[in-house]
Amino acid sequence: MPAARNAEFAHAFAVRLMQHLVVPTFVLDAERKVIIWNKACERLTGVAAAEVLGTSDHWHAFYEEPRHCLADILVLGSTEELESLYAAHSEPGETAHGIRAENWCVMPRVHKRLYLAIDAGPIFDEDGALLAVVETLRDNTEQKLAQMALHSLAVKDGLTGLANRRSFDEKLEAEWLHAQREGTPLSLLLVDVDHFKLYNDTYGHQKGDSCLKAVAEAMGHQVFRPTDLAARYGGEEFAVVMPSTDLDGALRVAERIRQSIFDRNIAHSASQTADRVTLSIGAASIIPDEEHDPGDLVNAADVALYRAKHSGRNRVMVNEMAAAE
Ligand code: GH3
Ligand code: MG
Ligand code: MG
Repeated sequence: MPAARNAEFAHAFAVRLMQHLVVPTFVLDAERKVIIWNKACERLTGVAAAEVLGTSDHWHAFYEEPRHCLADILVLGSTEELESLYAAHSEPGETAHGIRAENWCVMPRVHKRLYLAIDAGPIFDEDGALLAVVETLRDNTEQKLAQMALHSLAVKDGLTGLANRRSFDEKLEAEWLHAQREGTPLSLLLVDVDHFKLYNDTYGHQKGDSCLKAVAEAMGHQVFRPTDLAARYGGEEFAVVMPSTDLDGALRVAERIRQSIFDRNIAHSASQTADRVTLSIGAASIIPDEEHDPGDLVNAADVALYRAKHSGRNRVMVNEMAAAE
């Protein structure tokens, strides 16, 4: 076979190989125009090759708004965009061997939200100039959802959806160290349902569970700062960790939580405190130092809670001893 025919054949074969590769793949040239959009990519995105070839419209196969895809970033060398555009990505330092990223894509044409694992690899000519970038895609949605469910099981309380005890412990420890470094106050609320044993005895355990859900929901609504954490501490006790919050601030949040449950007016005919479900709350605050540890803050809030119980329940008490001010 003459050399020209050989080359022609090799070229045709390479194109065919790309077209039929089972991995969804597209290729951008150095001007960021689509030069290959293979069949697997058509199947994944619902966008036909004819719609995007020769254009830079490939983004609309994945997103609703114009934005750069991973291949664009590699062509442009704009790796500083990775952080804001992707849920996860490889270290952007060395890109000669390509970059990896992961993202939730809305896939407007197929109306499916997919979590894609994406690789973009550069193709250079003999002189080292960039000829094109190949982007390959993998649908990782199922694995991602399973991973998210596992993570949720590990960090959330099954009944209420609040953070579980383990997350609370980790959060308190982390915020303690942070507050100690910064010299800022750290506050803690311990929240306990009043006469909850009597509630269960009167209405049954299932209604008891619903009541705990209602308390958790009210707490979730009241804890406003993104850095705060509301957790189920155990049984019918809840806790709120509040970084950069002094005792006054903690008191205000505690009072709001107490009031919101009171206002929900969940009937509790056997309560010896009111005609409804009420909460007792202990608040403590500290600027962490070497002499104390997170356990001291928990103990201080617990002492305050004990006082709230013994001075009539349905109230907030603070532990001045541990107050930072
Ligand atoms: P106090 O006002 O002093 O707090 O009285 P109390 O009855 O609330 O206190 P106690 O600690 O004696 O009782 C807590 C009750 O909470 C006992 C337990 O059966 C119930 N409880 C703990 N966890 C759950 C739960 O997940 N669901 C339900 N329904 N009840 C729970
Ligand atoms: Mg209790
Ligand atoms: Mg109780």
